[in-house]
Amino acid sequence: MKIGKYSMGIGDRFGLQGKYQLQAFEQALKAGVEVTPVWNKSNREHNIVHSVPGDVRTEADEAVSGRNWEKEYFVDADHINNSNVEKFIEFSDFFTLDVADFIGKPANDNDIADFLSAFGKYKGNLSIPGIERPFLIDDTILNDIAGKYLYAVKEAGAIYRNIEGRKGKGNFVAEVSMDEVNNPQTPIELFFIMGALAKEKVVFSTIAPKFTGRFNKGVDYVGDIKAFAKEFEEDILVIDYAIKEFQLEPGLKLSVHSGSDKFSLYPEIGRIIRKHDKGIHLKTAGTTWLEEVTGLALAGGDAFELAKGIYAKAFERRDDLCAPYASVIDIKPSNLPSPETVNSWSPEKFADSLRHVPGHPDFNPDLRQLIHVGYKIAAEYGDVYINAIKTHADLVGKQVYENIWERHMKRIFL
Ligand SMILES: [Zn+2]
Repeated sequence: MKIGKYSMGIGDRFGLQGKYQLQAFEQALKAGVEVTPVWNKSNREHNIVHSVPGDVRTEADEAVSGRNWEKEYFVDADHINNSNVEKFIEFSDFFTLDVADFIGKPANDNDIADFLSAFGKYKGNLSIPGIERPFLIDDTILNDIAGKYLYAVKEAGAIYRNIEGRKGKGNFVAEVSMDEVNNPQTPIELFFIMGALAKEKVVFSTIAPKFTGRFNKGVDYVGDIKAFAKEFEEDILVIDYAIKEFQLEPGLKLSVHSGSDKFSLYPEIGRIIRKHDKGIHLKTAGTTWLEEVTGLALAGGDAFELAKGIYAKAFERRDDLCAPYASVIDIKPSNLPSPETVNSWSPEKFADSLRHVPGHPDFNPDLRQLIHVGYKIAAEYGDVYINAIKTHADLVGKQVYENIWERHMKRIFL
């Protein structure tokens, strides 16, 4: 199974926006760019909102048949490992093998020796076409890479074989992810990681390294855009070289786990992939639910009360809600308006504070990040929340569609 050149991972916490999300992909197709939708949801997210993998499959299938989408689409078991993949097997055809937790664990001596003998031939000055300076490879570097990543690669192999045994060879797309760690992988580390994955017979279509800079949830990139662009371009060149050296999938591409909304990186990513004629998988999962809250606010009346209620509860419980996301959010408490202040706002003021339009005078990234991690609260509202979304489906869906099309796709693919 192969995935197209451009694909986008879309999440949907509550599973009601599939057809509105898909509308954005139709719009891209009309504009001449085929982007493959991949509905993704992690085990962690299922646990918080009490959904199951079958729900995502149903949502995707219904969206696709409802809108007559004739191109490919996938359902991604996002960030899984061997402890939780089982329940995704039947419903997913894309699996994100998350081996971040295994980075740095010591591999066994035989595996390290195998690694060193397989890749010893790259010692000396390794030139990768397109990258100006050669990389100096010696035993220290190879040992270092084996020490950091070999155990994780072995684990990726174990997860992969488990899935392959159940789904059958060639019946799914695999991604290897190492993004949920503190330190970025360098392009040369990525090269040897891919070599080791090939040696482990993992057939993967996308790979998600950790990039330089901060990828906070739901807001723009924080870091040096030029440094990111350089690293991203080197990663692409390294992948190109690795495809040839290790006989990897010809369409192998980078996956950017963006934490959503890395608007300032999109033009760079778009420019670089077009320059090298490469594909991309962009996961921008989380913000659909924020569009739901925006839509509820704009609907006014009880729906707006609900949106304000979600904010008030998130504000009260901000310490608890933020704790699990500490490494991927940066909220300045002093920038959070009090619930009393928010209660005095108009629907437009609320929507403009939440909606991610950098430069808009009312946009408040702190409020946005807090609501972003507050989806647990909407889950606790249960049917009250779900019914409000259904009652205002068109208005909410319009926000969802516009967000993906206007603010994401246009910036990266056109
Ligand atoms: Zn990720």
